[in-house]
Amino acid sequence: MRLLYGDAMPENSAREPAISIENLTKRYAPPKGATGADAEGKLALGGVSFGVPEGSIFGLLGPNGAGKSTLINILAGLVNKTAGTAQIWGFDIDRQRRNASRAIGIVPQEIVFDPFFTPFEVLENQAGFYGVPAALRRSEELLEAVRLADKRNAYARTLSGGMKRRLLVAKAMVHSPPILVLDEPTAGVDVELRRQLWELVTVLNREGVTVVLTTHYLEEAEELCDRIAIINHGQLIANKPTQELIEMAREKVVEVTVDKDPAKAADSGAFDREFIARHELLEGNRISLTYDRDQVSAGQMLNHVQAMGFTVEDVTTREADLEDVFVQLTGSGA
Ligand code: ADP
Ligand code: MG
Repeated sequence: MRLLYGDAMPENSAREPAISIENLTKRYAPPKGATGADAEGKLALGGVSFGVPEGSIFGLLGPNGAGKSTLINILAGLVNKTAGTAQIWGFDIDRQRRNASRAIGIVPQEIVFDPFFTPFEVLENQAGFYGVPAALRRSEELLEAVRLADKRNAYARTLSGGMKRRLLVAKAMVHSPPILVLDEPTAGVDVELRRQLWELVTVLNREGVTVVLTTHYLEEAEELCDRIAIINHGQLIANKPTQELIEMAREKVVEVTVDKDPAKAADSGAFDREFIARHELLEGNRISLTYDRDQVSAGQMLNHVQAMGFTVEDVTTREADLEDVFVQLTGSGA
């Protein structure tokens, strides 16, 4: 598939990140008549900064209400930011809005179509909206790419949910942007469609499109993204290559109940060993030890505790996973 038409899109010559966000802040206006804490309005983004490397599939991961859509909608020009700056393909979203918009295609979280347009018309209208010259339009090609060629002339309202989502992806690609953003593309869709969308995203990325996708599914980010930023309550709490995030999940936790208060031993540095990543004193003579399972075994950890003069009364262990990393980072019990 041809991605860029003619010389319409200037090169990202400065070799900037595809998207660059600095201290992005959004406080929504309070509801009318709000009092107390509500009177200030909701702080949806509390000063977020990160860059999306060109050519990556970048995951913006966070629970519902984290601020993902707010961030995407600011990039899309649908929400006005309160403070901060953002560049898309090197173009400032305030001062160079037109070029910034041309560099990005956005698949919104909500599906909205005029039900009386056909997929072909949806794409042609969008091309018209972006001023893509007739000779450079590629509606047929896009319908082919999202496997909707046979639905070319069907009314949008007759399409299944999955078809509508695929049509939205095609619509976002009409002006051949170098960056595609998908806001929760697979929320509430079945496994089969999820696979299809993942494949489509992978193909587009292989052809050179930088992809940003928001999701609250850990497995989705893990499967698809080469870099993951985690956002929670409007704050960025991690931004790492996926592999490194998963490495963090290499850690295993063992919880040991011992016969006497371990606080003194902890104070004297008994748990500050290179093979213990973290220790935490819990109630009831319990201590939680986080270690790298590649370095030591649970048995060795217990030997270590016993060597310090404790009798081990109870032990529980479990594998940590990306979910643990997430909980660890968000500090939430959720
Ligand atoms: P996410 O996409 O990660 O689920 P959102 O960006 O939609 O999160 O929402 C972030 C926070 O901002 C939430 O607390 C949400 O209720 C609030 N919010 C979103 N849109 C508005 C709005 N238009 N007015 C007021 N508050 C909003
Ligand atoms: Mg959202």
